[in-house]
Order: sequence, then structure tokens, then C-alpha cells
Amino acid sequence: MEMRIYGLIAMLLCFGLTVGCTSTDLPETKSATIQYEFQQENENREAICKEGDCIAKEINDYLGWTIAADANPRCVFDNRHIYEGSVRSEYKDQVMYCANYCDFVHEYVHLICDVSGKAKYPPESMVREGFATYIEYIWKDEIAQGEYQYLQTDVRINRSSDPTENAQVEAMLEMNEMELTPENYQRAFVQLAYERAGEKLPYLVDDSFVDYWIGPILVDFLITQQGGLKPFLGFYCESERAQAIYGRSLDKLVLAALKYNDSLFV
Ligand SMILES: [Zn+2]
Repeated sequence: MEMRIYGLIAMLLCFGLTVGCTSTDLPETKSATIQYEFQQENENREAICKEGDCIAKEINDYLGWTIAADANPRCVFDNRHIYEGSVRSEYKDQVMYCANYCDFVHEYVHLICDVSGKAKYPPESMVREGFATYIEYIWKDEIAQGEYQYLQTDVRINRSSDPTENAQVEAMLEMNEMELTPENYQRAFVQLAYERAGEKLPYLVDDSFVDYWIGPILVDFLITQQGGLKPFLGFYCESERAQAIYGRSLDKLVLAALKYNDSLFV
């Protein structure tokens, strides 16, 4: 009984705080039709919805894609969202769950790829996560035009949990006079693993390392060194056409990306 009452209170709290707000009051963001919800009380929700729409529009403009008219995308701001046992953001079936506002960029990339009607979803998880992580890293420097009050926190650096490895990565960046940024950390971390394992690397590490660490290295290589965003989007939509688009299989592209990453370090 007690549990049922607590359950009911929890449900009421949950639904009571769910607030919808649409983008209709922003004429310049007509392409974004996201329904926002808040699972925790947030006095800035109207402003956050507006910023969400502006970010969505900037990513749409960068990609040249828009949300398809028949899509019903939702964004749930939930700072306690549990995904695979830990508090994390997630994208699933037209709903992006954001544990924090920085995750918005990453999950929106998944969302627009899914609901633009352009990309076959999902391609290989390495390409999918690599692209979302790559955009998350370059967002502020290369895509964002607007000033974002709620996205002012710097993009977090995903660090190695091993302090020795972490120190090695930082020393590597210092030796190469590279700034400690999320993308440089990721480049150096992958380079450290590559120096140990060479071309066997992609077959030795686990899926999550391949998707979230080598994936962005691959995407960075394809966009910055292999003809830009347009061929990449063609590849993203139909990654089985790697050979036709880039003249190499996906496996060979991954090795070329690792060699390119290697060339950035002395
Ligand atoms: Zn993701």
C-alpha cells in the first residue's frame, strides 16, 4: 500500500512537471517541430525550448536537412534519465532524452538523421556514433552561430579512467603543442592505443571504443580530408556504398583514418 501511494505520488510529480512547448513562436525556426518535455522542475524551460530550436536549426542548416513533415520528434529533458544502468542521454524512436544540455547536440544529430527522411537509420554504429560525437565536438567552433546561454558550459572531455593513461595522453598533447580540447584528447587517446596495437587496433578494442573513439576519428578524416560534408552525407545515408563514394571499403577507410591521425603526432 505504502509503495503504491509513493508510486502514485511519484507519477503525479512526474506528469505534473511535464511541460510541452513548441517552436511555433519562432518564425525563423519553422523547420524544427520538436515537442519539449521537462521531467524535473526548470524555471527556464521556455528559454531552453527556444535555444533548442535555434540549435536544431543551425544543425539542420549545416547538414542541409530538415525534419520531415510527418515526423513527431520529442525532446525530454531528464537529468536522471537512466540508460544501460547509468545516467546518460539517449536517442530512441524520435525521442531524445537529454541528461544535460550539452547532450542536446549529440542526440539531435541522431534525431535529424532519423527523421529527415534522408538517412537510412541506422548505418553502422561506428558511423552513427562517430558522426554524433564529431558534431558534438566541433559544434561550438564550427557550426554554432548563436549565443547560447544554456549551452555555455564547455563540451566535456571524456577522459580515460586510468590515471597513468590520462597522464600519457596529456603529455602527448603537450609534446605536440596541441590544446587540451575534447577532440584533441580523443585523437591522442586513440593514437596511444594505435601505437600499441597498430592496424590490429579496430579488431582488438570493444564496440564502445570503436563507436565513440575511433568513430569520430573516421568521420573527421572523411569530412576534413576526403572531400567534405557532401560525400560524407552520401556515405552516411548508404554506408555500403563506401567503395563507390571513396574508392575504399569501410575497413580500409578506418585504417586510413588511423594513419592520418598518426600523422598528426610526432
Ligand atoms: Zn549517440
